[in-house]
Amino acid sequence: MKQATCPQGQVTSDWTIRRDNFGNDCVDVRFDRATCADCFKRPQCTRSKAGPREIMMRPQAQHKLLQTRRQQQATDTWRAHYGKRAGIEGTLSQGIRAFGLRRCRYIGLPKTRFQHVVTALAMNVARIDDWLTGGSFAKTRRSAFAQMHFRLRSPCRRNSAA
Ligand code: SF4
Repeated sequence: MKQATCPQGQVTSDWTIRRDNFGNDCVDVRFDRATCADCFKRPQCTRSKAGPREIMMRPQAQHKLLQTRRQQQATDTWRAHYGKRAGIEGTLSQGIRAFGLRRCRYIGLPKTRFQHVVTALAMNVARIDDWLTGGSFAKTRRSAFAQMHFRLRSPCRRNSAA
C-alpha cells in the first residue's frame, strides 16, 4: 500500500484514489486517529477537533508539474510577467468583495452602467486613500499544514532549536 509521511515522521493509514467534483484524479490520505490525537504538533497541523489529519493530493505526475510551476512562480521573471494579472485580479476581487460589484442595484442597462462607473470611482478613491495613508495589503493565506512544513524546514528554526 502507498503511504505518505507527515513532517513528524508518521505515515498514513489510509490511501484512497478517487475523482474530484471536476472529474480530475486525486488521492485522499488519512493519518491514524490515535497517532494524531497524541501528537504535540496537532494544533498547528489540523483544525479538526477530534479527527485525524486528512489531505487531498494530486497523482504524482500532476503533483510534480504543480511543483515545477510553483518554482517558476518564485522567479523574478515570472513575478514581473504575472504582475499585471495580479493587479487586475485584485481589482476585480476588491470590487466584488468590498463594493458589491456582483449585484446590480438597478433595473436597466443605463442605470447598471451608472452603478459600475460610480463603483469604479469609489474604488479609485479608496485606493488613493490606501496609497496616501499607507494601507496594508492582505497576504496570501497558507494552510496550517504548509505553515508547519515551512517552519520545520526553516534553517533559522532548526539552528535555534539545536
Ligand atoms: S497531527 Fe499532523 S504532524 Fe501530528 S502525527 Fe498527525 S499528521 Fe503528523
